[in-house]
Amino acid sequence: MNAKTYLEPETLVPVYDECDVLVVGGGSAGHSAAVAAARAGCKNVILMERYGYCGGDVTGGYVLLIPSLSFHEKTYVRGIQEEWYTRLSKIPGAVRGPDASLAGITDPEEVRKWADVGGATHIPPARVEHGFMLDPTQLKIEMDIMLDELKDSIRVLYHSWGVKPIMEGNVCKGVLFESKEGRKAILAKVVIDATGDADLCRLSGAPTSSAIDDDCRCSSTALVYRIGGFSKNAYNAWNFSHREEAQKLSEALYKLHGFRTGMITGPTDDVSWVNNWQPKRDCSKIADQTATEMGTRLVLRQVLEAYKTYAPEIFKDAFLYDVAPQLGTRGSHRIVGEYVISSNDWAFPVEHEDCIAWHCTVDTLNDNAPIEIPYRSILPQKVENLLAPGRHISADRIAIDNVNLIPQCVGTGQAAGVAAAVAVADGSSTHTVNVAKVQDILAGEQDVPLPRNAHTDKSYTECLVEHEYGLYTPAAKAARASGDAAGSYRHWTLSKGAGDPSKSGK
Ligand SMILES: Cc1cc2nc3c(=O)[nH]c(=O)nc-3n(C[C@H](O)[C@H](O)[C@H](O)COP(=O)(O)OP(=O)(O)OC[C@H]3O[C@@H](n4cnc5c(N)ncnc54)[C@H](O)[C@@H]3O)c2cc1C
Repeated sequence: MNAKTYLEPETLVPVYDECDVLVVGGGSAGHSAAVAAARAGCKNVILMERYGYCGGDVTGGYVLLIPSLSFHEKTYVRGIQEEWYTRLSKIPGAVRGPDASLAGITDPEEVRKWADVGGATHIPPARVEHGFMLDPTQLKIEMDIMLDELKDSIRVLYHSWGVKPIMEGNVCKGVLFESKEGRKAILAKVVIDATGDADLCRLSGAPTSSAIDDDCRCSSTALVYRIGGFSKNAYNAWNFSHREEAQKLSEALYKLHGFRTGMITGPTDDVSWVNNWQPKRDCSKIADQTATEMGTRLVLRQVLEAYKTYAPEIFKDAFLYDVAPQLGTRGSHRIVGEYVISSNDWAFPVEHEDCIAWHCTVDTLNDNAPIEIPYRSILPQKVENLLAPGRHISADRIAIDNVNLIPQCVGTGQAAGVAAAVAVADGSSTHTVNVAKVQDILAGEQDVPLPRNAHTDKSYTECLVEHEYGLYTPAAKAARASGDAAGSYRHWTLSKGAGDPSKSGK
């Protein structure tokens, strides 16, 4: 980087608007936060998003897989995440996956039927999980519809980029943002940083950390592309029947790209998305962003040719369907909040009185049983009236790989929205907000099961007790015997990939 500097002249910034709750970032976390705040009674919400649509990684990065919403027969992850499924189910081709009523079924036929939907089956022991694939354009539309339904309470600002928190001492009072109209300010009682990269928290004085240059899965970028005009079912069968050719194709793709890719079924059989893991790249660095975008696109024509060369019977009519409009990332900077989630939360399992989401997290340590995500993990230290749900949640470098998933982003976003609404209504701050009230609204009106809450049916806890909190796995037994899971249990993405983030599956 050039060492020269330029002193920007002081300038008066016009106040564009004022609100009670300002959500910056309209990804799965931010969109859910705005919707939940409005539904919890806040009439003055602003949702600011740098692009022209909501959904972030999901709709713009083409991450089309919502995994593991259930443990055995109970669906723990509900609320707005389940609403995505029920709303999209009404639209032909928008969603595919077993619904909640099929969760826990062990019939081999049923398990086989859903095997190609990532996160919809669990092996071993083989059983169906509620999870689904979705169409990104339909979700984009649905997210706009959800905001439009609440237009009396939410004002949406697309193409507006939050650049700096407005701080008075340690209290966040709003945000400066850039747009085609220039630099402006929005004043707010509570700000929800849902940028995914802790953009605002990093400048607020709150402590943050980073997974970048580390060996975890989050330290990778992606540019997802889609291929159409072939049958994914036929390709799956070909992979089994032509193992040698399949290996050669995989090697050719790796050579072209220089990183691992994996083709995943979409909601329909004729278009699939190609997930990829570009290790040790930082989505908050211009050079890494540019390399991810250009480096991926520059070889895509040759990539399509490779599919046609090695599997002509499958790909002869295939075509490049599209490339995701935005770079994908699993994580970068994240907050060091009032509580830092670690492997101990899976192994023991830890009970949190301020639990705001009770989520299955695709972790093999506890056979994917739900863990309790506390309010303190979205609450930055040292600053007031700033919350941080989504993939920059407070978790250590091992745990973050399992709490950055879409359901956790939706769930923590929903909780942040309700917490902000309660804080504003009661005149309290983000540190003094009545968490029991937040939990009651979540578990009551907003369909979010929570442990030990009167609104949540006892069968959820009974299911966990019956199945020993999933702690029958050898990894769990070893971790528990050591007394410190983080020390003894290497996260599966690290252990499976021997330190190579490109070897994990999400
Ligand atoms: C290739 C890939 C595969 C993955 N696979 C899976 C999977 O199979 N299943 C799964 O559950 N998860 C998966 N993940 C992880 C998951 O997709 C993300 O962690 C999750 O979607 C993040 O949601 P979020 O709302 O926290 O952040 P984002 O989706 O990144 O949303 C942040 C939003 O904020 C906006 N924004 C950012 N900065 C600013 C700013 N300064 N001002 C205004 N707006 C801003 C962005 O444009 C974006 O809309 C995958 C991720 C990738 C990249």
